[in-house]
Amino acid sequence: MTSPEPHRSSGSSPPTSSAAIDAALRSGLGVGPSTAAVHAGEARQKLADAITDPIVSASTYTFPSTRAILDFIEQDLPREEYGRYGNPGERVVEDKLAALDGGEMAVLFSSGMAALVGVLMAHLSAGEEVVFFDQCYHRSREFCRRHLTRFGVGFREVKTGDYDAMEAAINPRTKMVVSESPTNPHLSIVDCARFADLGRRHGVLTLIDATLCTPYNHRPLADGVDFVLHSATKYLGGHNDLLAGVVVGSKGKMEPVRNLRGIMGGINSPHNCYLLERGLKTLALRMERHNANGLAVARFLESHPRVERVFYPGLESHPYHAVAKESMRGYGGLVTFLVKDADWQQTSRVVDAARILRIGPSLGGVESLIEQPLVMSYWNYSPAERQTFGIGDNMIRLALGIEDTADLIADLGRALEA
Ligand SMILES: *Cc1c(COP(=O)(O)O)cnc(C)c1O
Repeated sequence: MTSPEPHRSSGSSPPTSSAAIDAALRSGLGVGPSTAAVHAGEARQKLADAITDPIVSASTYTFPSTRAILDFIEQDLPREEYGRYGNPGERVVEDKLAALDGGEMAVLFSSGMAALVGVLMAHLSAGEEVVFFDQCYHRSREFCRRHLTRFGVGFREVKTGDYDAMEAAINPRTKMVVSESPTNPHLSIVDCARFADLGRRHGVLTLIDATLCTPYNHRPLADGVDFVLHSATKYLGGHNDLLAGVVVGSKGKMEPVRNLRGIMGGINSPHNCYLLERGLKTLALRMERHNANGLAVARFLESHPRVERVFYPGLESHPYHAVAKESMRGYGGLVTFLVKDADWQQTSRVVDAARILRIGPSLGGVESLIEQPLVMSYWNYSPAERQTFGIGDNMIRLALGIEDTADLIADLGRALEA
């Protein structure tokens, strides 16, 4: 596969002076993804000369005088004021995430959904429309269908990967088009350059929810997409111990998002920001293992006699393999498969027989998870709706963690014999 090196600006020579090296580390430009994950966004010397950033547990910040308040307001000085508008740890994480995704500004939210709601509310007004590819997270689409429409914002969905249908759905009211890449649980991959081009030609904003690939595997902003969004609850945090979300884009397009967040109040506590910063340090290392486990398990399942079909973009049998291979460094830890000739109860028995993989929703943490989408996410949907969403009774979704590949394969092998 091609190995994009999205974090190195090609052609420029590596920095040599110590000031230039500091600047490269802080900005994440001119260094590799793991170096950026460890150092980007951080000051070289910190409080008390500690190597780690402090957790500043303050809801408010004081001024030495009235003059200092007026200077802050009039000169837009870089300092804190009140916790709902930001905290020092959050700014470090935002700068690190902006560097990793190659964007000018990142705005951190208290969850992935808060981030999605924030960016849509900041950029859509009554009388305008948003178009989604239909494999996007069902809560994201539900927010548009049930709630944005109450404020006069139109919502349309088209079949995932059908760029002609997306183009046909765009009209003078359309303001933004949205997709995920990869999607969940089918792992369809969007050609982000084509998606961005479509947006540019029609003068509409483009947003990719890149939660499942992370900036380690693919950076949609480099393809010209306007906004990239992540549920940082997943791979970015990486340890199944926090919720957070982030949107990254140009300063001009992100300022309204930051201003609205200050009013909505969906900010992270300083403690949560610290957990996220800590998790991000190992992003590249973890993703290498998630990618390796994903590909090895997908290949194992594809050759297993009790498996009907495997969805994994790294497999040549996957409908989006070509675009994935072209654009991604690796394919992540999510693997979806269908158990051969199994009804929903027989499929549940495979889930229940796993000993290392834990039964639960979510993905992207160090612990491997297993679930049956029918039960976990679609139990209250009609069979017709499930068919529309492509959720089979015999479908199992794995969110592979960083355990040893051989142990995961042995566990799944045992479970499939059950
Ligand atoms: C989990 C997830 C979300 C929602 O994020 P939360 O942090 O749970 O609010 C949005 N998009 C994708 C692709 C997700 O996996």
